[in-house]
Amino acid sequence: MRIVTLAGGVGGARFLRGLLELTTPTDVHPVVRSPLPDGPHEVTVIGNTGDDITLFGLRVCPDLDTVMYTLGGGIHEGQGWGRADESHVVRSELAAYGAEPQWFGLGDKDIATHVARSQWLAQGAPLSQVTERLADRWGLPGRGVRLLPMTDTPVETHVVVDDPGSEGGQSAIHFQEWWVRHQAALPARRFVVAGLDRAAPAPGVLDAIRSADLILLPPSNPVVSIGIILSVPGVRDALRGCRAPVVGVSPVVGGRPVRGHADACLAALGLPTTTEAVAGLYADFLDGWLVDESDAAAVATLARTQRDLRVVARPLLMTDVPATAAIAAEAARLGLELRAGGGPAATSVRDR
Ligand code: GDP
Ligand code: CA
Repeated sequence: MRIVTLAGGVGGARFLRGLLELTTPTDVHPVVRSPLPDGPHEVTVIGNTGDDITLFGLRVCPDLDTVMYTLGGGIHEGQGWGRADESHVVRSELAAYGAEPQWFGLGDKDIATHVARSQWLAQGAPLSQVTERLADRWGLPGRGVRLLPMTDTPVETHVVVDDPGSEGGQSAIHFQEWWVRHQAALPARRFVVAGLDRAAPAPGVLDAIRSADLILLPPSNPVVSIGIILSVPGVRDALRGCRAPVVGVSPVVGGRPVRGHADACLAALGLPTTTEAVAGLYADFLDGWLVDESDAAAVATLARTQRDLRVVARPLLMTDVPATAAIAAEAARLGLELRAGGGPAATSVRDR
């Protein structure tokens, strides 16, 4: 099967690791029964590049790297981002010079990725080719994974915040400054993606969506990860028009983001932190939605507000790889049911 996913960083990467246990199982994890037919399967990941930033002259793509390191076995498990067994010599040397910014931590091994990327970009390779080259080292093709940036055009998510220096004034800061430096504590008024008007989907992105058998939305941040990918001209239309069912996994569990600041991002759109609000953001193309068992009440609510949506409540905490594989299996199962056609608009908790 051709499976397409849209992914941010940590939430997307962890979900994908579970999904790969279904598409290309390892012997490491005793896994849930896969609902997928026999392989081979191809997983195309369309990664968010709105988080990208240039630091110390290096192009850093945090979400693409988090996916790459996680699937390639190089991730720092505790953090969820960055490299395992990392050192920070370069960072302290830069700080000794007073080089800014000092609020964004880049480890030494991680910096090698950014040096290689920046060099190949400077030689004229588009980001999609550079990403392919980086992902080769981490064995992604061997696991049937194609990692695509959402666009080859440099784009950057900026956050509009109140400017303390001027009455009623506002200013825009880079997403990373808002997220990492300020921990999303400055109220976000809006998100603006610089460069988006000139951006086109990277080669392969629209084709992947159009020819997909199944499209899965991991529990990535609905505003600053998936929302940014959807804003690339053409992507949302392709999802609306594709023949594959689109099934999403809620990133909001019990009225809270499991980690990160999705609540602050939803608030900027004037939305509450509920799984219903997130499903509403995808209403025009979403066919199936997994909510956590603690949000089982949403099954009935969404049956009224989004009538064509199939909603299923299941445990959605990605506590370890087997638990995550079970979530991916539920998402795939729902997608296959939708492909086969029919069934009631909403199903209840543990109805099978
Ligand atoms: P980021 O780019 O590193 O912020 O990562 P993503 O955008 O891919 O994912 C962040 C989202 O993942 C957050 O909004 C979390 O709510 C969600 N998330 C993290 N862990 C879990 C989990 O175990 N279960 C669910 N359902 N969502 C999770
Ligand atoms: Ca991110």
